Amino acid sequence: MTNNTYDVIIIGGGVMGCATAYYLLKLDPRLNVAILEMDATYEKASTPLSDGNTRIQFNIKENIQISQYGLEVLARFSEEMEVDGEKPDAAFRQQGNLFVLDEASSAESYEGMLLQKSLGCEVYWLSLEEVKTHYPLYNLKDCVAGTFGPHDGTMSPLAVLMGYKKKAIALGAKYIQAEVTEILKQGNQVTGVKLISGEVLNSNIVMNAAGAWAAQVAETVGIELPILPTKRQVTIIETNERPEKTLPVLFLPSGLYVIHEESGLFMCGKSFPDDHVGLDDFRWERKMFEDVIWPELVEYIPEFDRLKIKRGWAGLYEVNTLDGNAILGEWTQLKGFFLANGFSGHGFQQCHAVGRYITELMLRRTPTLDLSIFSPQRILENKPVFESRRKII
Ligand SMILES: Cc1cc2nc3c(=O)[nH]c(=O)nc-3n(C[C@H](O)[C@H](O)[C@H](O)COP(=O)(O)OP(=O)(O)OC[C@H]3O[C@@H](n4cnc5c(N)ncnc54)[C@H](O)[C@@H]3O)c2cc1C
Repeated sequence: MTNNTYDVIIIGGGVMGCATAYYLLKLDPRLNVAILEMDATYEKASTPLSDGNTRIQFNIKENIQISQYGLEVLARFSEEMEVDGEKPDAAFRQQGNLFVLDEASSAESYEGMLLQKSLGCEVYWLSLEEVKTHYPLYNLKDCVAGTFGPHDGTMSPLAVLMGYKKKAIALGAKYIQAEVTEILKQGNQVTGVKLISGEVLNSNIVMNAAGAWAAQVAETVGIELPILPTKRQVTIIETNERPEKTLPVLFLPSGLYVIHEESGLFMCGKSFPDDHVGLDDFRWERKMFEDVIWPELVEYIPEFDRLKIKRGWAGLYEVNTLDGNAILGEWTQLKGFFLANGFSGHGFQQCHAVGRYITELMLRRTPTLDLSIFSPQRILENKPVFESRRKII
């Protein structure tokens, strides 16, 4: 084996790439794994720009199971990722997620709740009065009921990423700062990658973990993925409200969400259908918050009519335009090319189960959790799997 030859090459050192490298080396410490990351500062990578929320409140069985496994891992994350006596702290705040339901969403959410319960999740159906008890600041506008997942919550996505990255490196992964410009193949077998320097690295297994850049990377080998990098903005505000205990994360029917951080600090955001598509715009627009989000926020939480805008940022969702769900597995027409892409805004929480699943597929083991529902084959067959009957992405 030459120095440029690896058992597995991972393109992208975000949370998906690093978690997969960790699981590979955990399952087989002899493996020669390379993580190729074009920007080790992660300035534009989605993981550190994420809100860091996790929830079991999904409607697809496999998405719920992915989150259940994530909770298991988080409970032992510090111990499992220990390197040289240093234990990372994911700062997991299990404040619970409260979904407010309107007429249009309540029946489907009720079904979702029953499914979650049947899988062993703790989740509650709330009356209007109970919603108010959980979130006294919310004036119940548009609300007919609520669901509450007490084990859902938020954490530091950077801490989770760094936990996986350091552990993977400690187990022997080679982390290389380099941009991949081309995926190489011979016939229908992947053979490696070409770097911007012109250097070629060889491997019969290459993983696309390039996040919002995934479609661009796949295109270099002639594969078209239905993934659009889509700008999303987050704003941190300071209010005069000082709830005694941390409030749950509030998800309103309009898509607006409000994450209570601590004391008077809240983080909020919303996706819009006309959010900019492209890899070129990371500007946070204060005016957008002032003109669009703030007025809507005040409609739901009147006490927020006075607040201080502390700061904000923009990052990219990797939106799968077919169905808004992950694309996981080997591309059937190119042997050895594995995808973990298209997470559409809920990828951070899925890194644990996805890292394990992709590893098991690469090593030709039987997956512990069958995630074949998210197979890339569904793109070729145009068979979407939607979370919502209303097919909202
Ligand atoms: C504002 C915002 C809020 C979010 N909130 C949540 C949330 O609350 N919960 C949740 O679960 N998810 C959330 N997400 C989504 C989540 O951040 C992503 O799904 C997840 O981080 C994807 O991880 P990744 O490793 O695939 O991508 P990334 O973290 O983007 O990593 C991909 C890496 O690939 C590198 N790369 C790309 N192309 C190349 C190349 N050619 N060569 C070498 N390296 C390359 C990039 O530099 C990058 O570091 C949010 C996203 C945003 C933007």
